[in-house]
Amino acid sequence: MIRDRFLPLLLLSLTAGFLSQGPQEGTVTEASAKKAAQLPEESLIVDRGEGHVPLRIPGAEELKFRVLVDLGIGDINVGSVVLSTGIEPYRAGLPMPGTKAGNEEQSGWLRSKAKGGHLGYELDHELKATYQPIAFPRVFYRDTQTGSENRKREIKIGERGGKTISTFQDDDHCKGCDRPEHVVASTLPWGKDHHCKKCKRGEHRVWTSIEEREVPTEALDMLGAIYLSRTVIVDGLEHATFPLLDKKRLWTVVLRPGQTKLIKTKAGKFECIEVRLETTLPEGETAPERGFSGLFGLRGEIHIWAEANTGVPVLIEGEVPVGGLFSLDVQVELTSYLGTPAAFVPK
Ligand SMILES: [Zn+2]
Ligand SMILES: [Zn+2]
Repeated sequence: MIRDRFLPLLLLSLTAGFLSQGPQEGTVTEASAKKAAQLPEESLIVDRGEGHVPLRIPGAEELKFRVLVDLGIGDINVGSVVLSTGIEPYRAGLPMPGTKAGNEEQSGWLRSKAKGGHLGYELDHELKATYQPIAFPRVFYRDTQTGSENRKREIKIGERGGKTISTFQDDDHCKGCDRPEHVVASTLPWGKDHHCKKCKRGEHRVWTSIEEREVPTEALDMLGAIYLSRTVIVDGLEHATFPLLDKKRLWTVVLRPGQTKLIKTKAGKFECIEVRLETTLPEGETAPERGFSGLFGLRGEIHIWAEANTGVPVLIEGEVPVGGLFSLDVQVELTSYLGTPAAFVPK
């Protein structure tokens, strides 16, 4: 199916997200200027609780990638992915009269924008995770797909009633209502105009009800997980294991650094460390019908080639199943970068 063909892009888009990473803690002691150069000049540290690696959000970084699919007759460029980050002052609504607007508190965001098109199918897929200095939602994650198909999803994570919870909400085709824009004209002269039953029009979609569950305090959204992979490199960790929330399901993700290799990209050659992303289903979680595919739609293992000093993702590799019969190799390759740490330089 066309949709399946396009999964690679989707996957990649997400995948791409996977690699980027790493800010800085502000302590430039004997850990040295070298360490400082591995991290973006400005970053936001998002605390994940005692004993858990904090998430570091680069102040303003933009990584552009092209998405290549190996169709056996050579690699075909099917689209692009842009991973970007930002930090901004956090404002909770309007300030009260007579008070000063805002304080030192900041929120940070991570965004993945994937764009592509093939055989008449157009895809525009955006993921955005915002980390806020409030109890709920501490994490606000939005997944929006537009183009030939339209769909929206929102995940919120935070503390409520003494527990850490997540909420999930997505949209669906309206089942029936009085809104005139949902009514379609009959194509038959004797037919009656009626409420649309099913289509791909974004304006016919409505939010479904909110579903809530309890999650571990250190649970991460997909983009957060991706950026955490950078910490693994910068801090020289042997691995990082953490719970990942995908829609309503928790996965256990292990990020494991491995071999070192010189990787050639459109943006230059970089000395990289391979970080493998492995997923397992924690006890008590129900298995999805098609295995782990929430993350990028990529099945099985994902390989992230991250620049050895800074952890900046340079190449992401994975497989995308097509129609259950075979898989396509997909590569997300860096084409340009902005706002990266000083130590991120091509060979
Ligand atoms: Zn309706
Ligand atoms: Zn419709």
